[in-house]
Amino acid sequence: MSLEGNKWPGVVRWVSGFILLALLIGLFYNLSTFSIRKEIAVLAGQVGQRVIVLDPGHGGFDGGARGLGGVEEKEIVLAVAKYLAEYLEQVGARVFLTRDEDEELAEDKVEDLDARIKLAEEVAADLFLSIHANSFPSPYEYGAQCFYCHNHPGSKNLAREIQGALVEGIDVLGNNYREVQMAEYYILRNLEIPAALIEIGFLSNPREEALLRQGAYQKRLAWCIFIGVVRYFSGSWLVEDIVN
Ligand SMILES: [Zn+2]
Repeated sequence: MSLEGNKWPGVVRWVSGFILLALLIGLFYNLSTFSIRKEIAVLAGQVGQRVIVLDPGHGGFDGGARGLGGVEEKEIVLAVAKYLAEYLEQVGARVFLTRDEDEELAEDKVEDLDARIKLAEEVAADLFLSIHANSFPSPYEYGAQCFYCHNHPGSKNLAREIQGALVEGIDVLGNNYREVQMAEYYILRNLEIPAALIEIGFLSNPREEALLRQGAYQKRLAWCIFIGVVRYFSGSWLVEDIVN
């Protein structure tokens, strides 16, 4: 009897401790995201009426990179692009996707890329984002990384804002130490508008592959990219450059 009697207060203490911890984690999370949401709400007006082309890489016969678990790059990047399109449309942007289903744009790889570039020209886009997922021989590499080239003076700042938002917003696998990188990708150097190519993570890392398959994680990636785009259009990089 006395043993039974002593057991309950222990369980109650454990449960109430657990609830308190959950509440504290929730409070911390809300406080840290509140300031970002407030900032985005104020700046999002800058994105309204902008024409943005989102380019989910690959498609159709071209699956892109493949994870050890079997998922293909073309599926993941399409899902992220669709979530990103939703966020951008919610603040008034006009969004065009180079593909909204599993299809290639041409049988030839260069022609396929040219078709994506041509769409941006046809709709008189203000901004172009190509979305990809990475792969590397070592299974330990992780983290999103943004690339730009010197096709337009705004491209580097665009890539920096998106990289910053991704580093700030996602550290599930640890700190993302990656920085923006210049790369002469065909699609980037043939565009005349601010453009960036975002590698959203490594399919060759089994833990990251598992995350990349999850809708919640895809949404989080899209949200971070959205924050980067909003900050780019709001010119916050200009303010930072002056302050620093
Ligand atoms: Zn790719």
